[in-house]
Amino acid sequence: MTKVSRWKSFISLAVAVLLPFATTFLPAPPRNDFHSLFLSSAAPPASNTTVSDHLRRLTARPHVSGSPADALVARYVSDVLSSAALPTHSVRYDVLLTFPSFRSLTLSSPELRLPVALPLTQLHVPGHPSPFSDEVVPTFHAYAPSGSAVGPAVYANYGRREDFSALARLGINVSRSVVVARYGKIHRGDIVKNAHHAGAAGVVIYTDTADYGSESDGWFPESRWMPPSGVQVGTVYNGAGDPTTPGWASTLEMAGGCERAGPPEGAVADIPSLPISAADAAIILKEIGGPVADEAWHGLLDVPVYRLGPGPAVLNLTYIAKESITTIENVFALIRGTEEPDRYVILGNHRDAWTYGAVDPNSGTATLLEISGRLEKLMKRGWKPRRSIILCNWDAEEYGLIGSTEWVEENREVLRSKAIAYLNVDIAVAGPGFHAYATPQLDDILKQVTQQVEDPDNSSRTVYDAWIDSGDTPLIGRLGGGGSDYAPFVQHVGVPAVDMFFGGGYPVYHSIYDDYQWMEKFGDPMFRRHVAAASIWGLLALRLADDKILPFNYLSYATELQSSAKELEAGEIDKSVSFVPLYESIEKLRKSAVEINKQKEFARDAWFSKWTKTQTLPVRDLNDRMMMAERAFTDADGLFKGPWYKHLIYGPSKQDDYGSKSFPGIDDAIEEAKNANSLDPWKHVQHEIWRAARAITQASLVLSGEFT
Ligand SMILES: [Zn+2]
Repeated sequence: MTKVSRWKSFISLAVAVLLPFATTFLPAPPRNDFHSLFLSSAAPPASNTTVSDHLRRLTARPHVSGSPADALVARYVSDVLSSAALPTHSVRYDVLLTFPSFRSLTLSSPELRLPVALPLTQLHVPGHPSPFSDEVVPTFHAYAPSGSAVGPAVYANYGRREDFSALARLGINVSRSVVVARYGKIHRGDIVKNAHHAGAAGVVIYTDTADYGSESDGWFPESRWMPPSGVQVGTVYNGAGDPTTPGWASTLEMAGGCERAGPPEGAVADIPSLPISAADAAIILKEIGGPVADEAWHGLLDVPVYRLGPGPAVLNLTYIAKESITTIENVFALIRGTEEPDRYVILGNHRDAWTYGAVDPNSGTATLLEISGRLEKLMKRGWKPRRSIILCNWDAEEYGLIGSTEWVEENREVLRSKAIAYLNVDIAVAGPGFHAYATPQLDDILKQVTQQVEDPDNSSRTVYDAWIDSGDTPLIGRLGGGGSDYAPFVQHVGVPAVDMFFGGGYPVYHSIYDDYQWMEKFGDPMFRRHVAAASIWGLLALRLADDKILPFNYLSYATELQSSAKELEAGEIDKSVSFVPLYESIEKLRKSAVEINKQKEFARDAWFSKWTKTQTLPVRDLNDRMMMAERAFTDADGLFKGPWYKHLIYGPSKQDDYGSKSFPGIDDAIEEAKNANSLDPWKHVQHEIWRAARAITQASLVLSGEFT
């Protein structure tokens, strides 16, 4: 053996012995590098084309929940996720859905010689007839009860409590009438409920040009506004999940089925209702007599003047529902984490649409699929998340958050112990301008992430710059409403969550006109907003899945609770009520938040200074305390609205399902007390204050990790 060959063999021996160690010690590229790659892989035009292509395919046919077309869209979603090399599976449930079997609305009045049968039909966009138009579900209200209502018409503005109180003050008799109310301020289920309380026999809810149109611009397809025949379809169910399985999962019948009970009290409407178009409403409003409505109640329909009634117009409404136990399907993809596979960051969007659903919800679905493609690129370069990531595509959201709720109910305890956060995108894009709602410990990370993404409408600034200029007050809203699939996560289990979108309200909401053409012409012509939505949503998930120390800040929570408590206290409150227990608990939470933020700094320094295994446990403990603190805001007894709503800080209030107020229990108790004539109900307000205070104290203990 020569000297050279001896050296060679020594080197090859050394390599053979040391290589396994070398690969063990060789650090993978920092995860931050992959996060930059995630953002840069959105370079145009690639992503714009992929996302618009997904949207066109997703919205090719009307796909209401439970329909064959909805099942085909589920296949498309699962095929795209699998082709991105993500392990994909479906979970199905058998749930109660309702479909319209018969609808009629006739108007008679002394001015009309014969009763007029209103068409109740949305006209197809001229020049763009859909080859699948026979799949369009006739306009209806999901879960409206079957029945007939005949009575004089009464105009009730937005159908809010205050609108019915105003009618009562004016002596307008709503009893046994058919109420005509306009969409725009409160959840349609609450409009029906308020009308029922006022004694009405039935309700029609219409879309006024004042709220969804423009006097001068015309309408879709020429402009973005709702055409006169457009109807906002939707649910009047005031709950979450399958109404026949309140609190538990609607297991498939073929898998043995499950217990079925009636819906919780007050969750479903008591009187029949129908949504109608501006065109149909104008015909009715012309025939309503009685006093002229207040100026603020006037819309922009072609009516000489808006009057209150009752009558002389008489409406005869008949609605027959077909109720059926229907199979729905949620689609999931799971990317298993390497260091903490038992911790989950969950992204979710629903798939089912009232008709084509290009804005609601498939702008979100297309965005989720775009994220899956970018994650595939990262994985090909060697990225693996620290924690597990689940991508969820829900079914039957439109009926009442059903797909997500059934899954959350089925997996409640696993989610309680293992879910880091739930990131919801329902509508991803309806127009320009970013908006967000979140539980407050996520405020900071949301701001940081939007600072890293370019504003899709002005490349010289970030989404964050545009957002703070938008005038949103507060900048980040809260998740008390029942508006989308975040509700079961936050309000039933106490999982930190985010809900976000570009554009906010849009005129063709829940109508046949929410289609690909509307999106391409008005919602997002270049699909840049979709790409930015994918960047924000994806980067948020990456930070939550990859950051060694969770990017949660509970100081924002304490600050937020302090101002919400002040707001409540500033209302009309009896002087026997004390807010001191609430303020004291918030102070405890603030102290724990300051303390854990210090511990986070320390853990971060310790981590960078020495890579020893002994660091793992304290960091895990630190993260678990931050993950679990949100759960402490939940209470087994739940809220006024029902025991399913367990979160005492964020939940819907009794009078408004869209409501996003904090402390709904205290708020509802105050409402009741104000309307009562004795002091007793104020004791109940005090009780609700104590309950919230106890929950906040529990959260402060979870955060500090100490026993008393
Ligand atoms: Zn939606």
